[in-house]
Amino acid sequence: MNYLSTRGHPDRKRFCEILLEGLAPDGGLYLPEQYPQIDTATLAKWRKLPYAELAFEILSLYIDDIPPDDLKAICAKTYTAEVFGTDEIVPLRELEDGVYLEALSNGPTLAFKDMAMQLLGNLFEYELARRGAELNILGATSGDTGSAAEYAMRGKKGVRVFMTSPDGRMSPFQQAQMFSLQDANIHNIAITGVFDDCQDIVKAVSNDLAFKRKYRIGTVNSINWARLLAQVVYYFAGYFQATASNDKPVSFTVPSGNFGNVCAGHVARMMGLPIHTLVVATNENDVLDEFFRTGVYRVRGAVDTHETSSPSMDISKASNFERFVFDLVGRDPARLRKLFVDDLGLNGSFDLSADPAFAQAAGRFGFRSGRSTHADRLATIRDTDKRFATLVDPHTADGLKAAREQLTPGVPMVVLETALPIKFAATLVEALGEEPARPKKFEGIEALPKRVVKLPADAEAVKAYIAEHCD
Ligand SMILES: *Cc1c(COP(=O)(O)O)cnc(C)c1O
Repeated sequence: MNYLSTRGHPDRKRFCEILLEGLAPDGGLYLPEQYPQIDTATLAKWRKLPYAELAFEILSLYIDDIPPDDLKAICAKTYTAEVFGTDEIVPLRELEDGVYLEALSNGPTLAFKDMAMQLLGNLFEYELARRGAELNILGATSGDTGSAAEYAMRGKKGVRVFMTSPDGRMSPFQQAQMFSLQDANIHNIAITGVFDDCQDIVKAVSNDLAFKRKYRIGTVNSINWARLLAQVVYYFAGYFQATASNDKPVSFTVPSGNFGNVCAGHVARMMGLPIHTLVVATNENDVLDEFFRTGVYRVRGAVDTHETSSPSMDISKASNFERFVFDLVGRDPARLRKLFVDDLGLNGSFDLSADPAFAQAAGRFGFRSGRSTHADRLATIRDTDKRFATLVDPHTADGLKAAREQLTPGVPMVVLETALPIKFAATLVEALGEEPARPKKFEGIEALPKRVVKLPADAEAVKAYIAEHCD
């Protein structure tokens, strides 16, 4: 399998070459040259597989530069009941007639990002050992991504993590999750500033090419293809749990920010998994809902990006969206460049409303969307508690609301649960007047010793810290 860039760069790459990379050299995103097609016999065979074996089958269609036995061992080591809490790994439960929740949040940091990041940690360790190389991961987080990355990379050989976060702005639980890690290869850097300052620092350090090369700086952001690929697996696993046979369509609703999670659903659908509809659920930051309703994609500035009670979906632009649009415009890199380089660069928006391609987003590609507000979120949390005695986190609540607006009679609707409620306790308290229960392993983490340094919002200070901790 070879990978291409959405912006038309002539080079083709193998999986392990793009594993440790971010953007393609021309600024595009990597995609496989074609999506492997799954026939009904293969689906029938996969239906019976345990999660780790299903992951191996799917991954091996996209990865041909890791020996199969090694890849199998990596999957087996990643997707265990010990790490993810159950043998099913992503258990499905029916909430009401035809509406299901697929639990993706029982990994080490209680959010779905563990599903991909845990695999990435093991792939990185494997590939770095094979190359005899080291990698220093520099990131910026306001919560879920940073903790998922740290729990995936802790103790891994050849990898260090330098994770910046805005000082005092994460929830106490998220802070405690990250700062209580005592592993020598994990470095928490609290920046005096806001999340944007952290992102600017990461950008500035990455733009210093000499520094980047000397200190082997890498990232684990959501445009990484390996992360997206890992997420394809749970669409298959959810489908098999929601159906008794492979001729039945299923719809999925996905709480969305950077379009990584739902893009994996798109890939599963392109492979031939019988997905009826993919519902993109957004919060007040509705750039994606706006696109699927109107055909206009308009990235937001800082003042138009709201701080909401489903903070992991607070985005100004959706960094993985370019992958879907590439398929939407018939994989034509010239058209893609016009939209993402010319139009977005010049106007901050593009408009496909009059383009026949836009009709295909709903038609051929099965996309719908919905939007939810703080008041909707609280109402959904209360309603789900009252009627089903089930607590959902604010992001999953956004999903449930959008899902109910897009039900098709006779087609099961699977809502992806992207975090556990305890991660966002303040909103649960606002909705219900009480704190959600906390898994045993997290009891009292706020009181544990914290491992964190405070640095000013200054890229030079962060560079000096990295240089000092790299031998
Ligand atoms: C990251 C995240 C999302 C958004 O996922 P994308 O892949 O960026 O669309 C939704 N919910 C939670 C809890 C998250 O951590």
